[in-house]
This record gives sequence, C-alpha cells and structure tokens, in this order.
Amino acid sequence: MEIHRQQCQQCGSRNARNILVREADAPMTIYVRCLGCGELVARYQLSHYYHHGKGIESFLRSLGSDAGESGRDYLAEFQRTQDQAVRGYEDALRKLQEQGNDV
Ligand SMILES: [Zn+2]
Repeated sequence: MEIHRQQCQQCGSRNARNILVREADAPMTIYVRCLGCGELVARYQLSHYYHHGKGIESFLRSLGSDAGESGRDYLAEFQRTQDQAVRGYEDALRKLQEQGNDV
C-alpha cells in the first residue's frame, strides 16, 4: 500500500480545495484545486461517494439509481461504508505520520 498527500505539480503546495460536481446519471466528479497557485491538481470520478457525517440519505443519493436492494441492505451497506471510511482514514493518517509527514 502506498499513501501520499496530494501535492500540486506546478508549485509544490499541499494546500488544496475539493470542488464537487454532481450531475444526474454521471459519476461524482471532484476537481482538486491548488490553493497556492489556483491550478487544477487532479480530477477524480467516483462511482460511489461517501460523505462522512451526512447520513444515509446522502449515501443513498451517491448510489444513484442502482436500486433493487432492500432498505435493510442499504442500511447495512451504509454502516459498512461508514466504518470502512473512518478506519481507512485513521490508518492513512497514522501511516503518513509514521513516514514523518504532517497530517
Ligand atoms: Zn499550485
């Protein structure tokens, strides 16, 4: 596993802003804007997006029209996703710190 902090290719800044774009029938797109020089750093397109603290309604929206599962299945998937997100975040921060990075 490799863990990196996002860095601007133009100016080397690690300060960035995520600009989220959601359109119907399209994957969530996130543009990473450098706060040092304003350049585009990266674009991500996500098929499943988990927004921590926003609850299950936000999670269900992120799944789009992939209906077919029951409400109970969605709740279990939401809880699994939430747990994985928090654990993955904490693991990534810990590994960055072990590598000597500020987090
Ligand atoms: Zn920059």
